[in-house]
Amino acid sequence: MTTVSARAPGKINPVLRVGPRNETGYHELFTVFQALELWETVTVENADAYRVTLEGDLPLDQVPLDESNIVVQAAVALAEAIGHDGAAAFHIHKNIPVGGGMGGGSADAAAALVALNELWGNQADTHTLHTIAAGVGADVPFALHGGSALGRGNGSSLEALNSSEFFWVLLPIDHHLSTPEVYARFDALTGGDVEELPNELPPQLTEALTAGDAETLAVFLENDLGPMAADLYPPLISGLMDSEMGGALRTMVSGSGPTLVALTRDASHQADLVQTLNDKGHRPIPTVSTPRGAHLV
Ligand code: ATP
Repeated sequence: MTTVSARAPGKINPVLRVGPRNETGYHELFTVFQALELWETVTVENADAYRVTLEGDLPLDQVPLDESNIVVQAAVALAEAIGHDGAAAFHIHKNIPVGGGMGGGSADAAAALVALNELWGNQADTHTLHTIAAGVGADVPFALHGGSALGRGNGSSLEALNSSEFFWVLLPIDHHLSTPEVYARFDALTGGDVEELPNELPPQLTEALTAGDAETLAVFLENDLGPMAADLYPPLISGLMDSEMGGALRTMVSGSGPTLVALTRDASHQADLVQTLNDKGHRPIPTVSTPRGAHLV
């Protein structure tokens, strides 16, 4: 039996600006994505019906095993696009905490697309895969692409950014925040009075990314959903303070939360912060940015 495996990275959003709702009812975004050395691996094989199995050293109870799993949605979209008649069985090795705003589901979808495209004869080119990915979820194109990128629209319209390596510490929070609920709080707290989005990133920010200048990047970290997530779950503030007091250059909410993400100067600063957070009873995850996106393994 032929099996094919691919992996795709999780991500953070060092910049997440949320604009007004557009005509489709979704908020326009202006966001910087950065892929992380935190990989989801998906193995596929042909089967009579879609099936999903899971493994991973983290809570998996929120991940559906039926056709609502995003890997099945990705497979159905690819099969339709290339006219493939048949289903697949998926084995997902999860490494990214579920529902934490680090794009684990999107990474699964991207890895599934790359693996299935190989299994089904490479009929979709890069452009077609990107279009299919955008139909599956706003963050799936970035998980395919990886590296660092500026996202506009719902996040699926991407422009690659140059980036050196950055050393992050993730701080998973044991609480679930629903993304629609965080956006609803954004609407309630802003009363629809939302600033227009910028057209471009500040040059100092793109220069800091290219140069690997963490101190300058720290100044530009920004998440419009951070205050909303903290408003819905006030203990986030103490987590933020804990990591900043522990010496992070800057700490922010990741995406719609509740995971927190702290930027450090380099590997040794990162190790110091991990030690401090461990001592405070947190379970920090050290990670670095990666230039790669979804690929076969
Ligand atoms: P995002 O940052 O894109 O909002 P996230 O990282 O916060 O995503 P995910 O881990 O991608 O969250 O999962 C969000 C929800 O999607 C889960 O609670 C689960 O119900 C559903 N889901 C569907 N397929 C998957 C999958 N393969 N892995 C994880 N969750 C999945």
